[in-house]
Amino acid sequence: MTAFEQAKYRNTLMGRLSYGCDLLEELTNIAVKNQIALARVEAIGAVQKAVIAYYDQKTLTYQSLSFDYPLELIKLSGNISLKDGNPFVHAHVTLSDESGKSLGGHLASGTIVFSCEFSIDVYDGPALTRGLDQQTGLQLWLM
Ligand code: ZN
Repeated sequence: MTAFEQAKYRNTLMGRLSYGCDLLEELTNIAVKNQIALARVEAIGAVQKAVIAYYDQKTLTYQSLSFDYPLELIKLSGNISLKDGNPFVHAHVTLSDESGKSLGGHLASGTIVFSCEFSIDVYDGPALTRGLDQQTGLQLWLM
């Protein structure tokens, strides 16, 4: 069933991630340090290498995909909510190679930043908390 909550815009954090940091882990660090419970995240830049995941809807498991070469970060789009009481970043990325071909998926740890400009739009509102969804096997917002 479709469900939603109302959220009110609070502020935006804009900045640049450091060279060589882990993209997902650094966004998570920012969320934890700033006690962000509800936000929208986006970023652009480039990565030295990437690890993304594809969710297999038959086996209900993530398949990890590694790309051990430089890629453009065309778009990171995601959100921050709470999982087990802590800020949790869920992000998907579109990346492109030297020929301009793109690939993408669920961002995983191991994606290393070359350069990255990010914006985090923080919201006030009811906490969206993740928990196991029986139908998909995913940690989805419990509503
Ligand atoms: Zn995902």
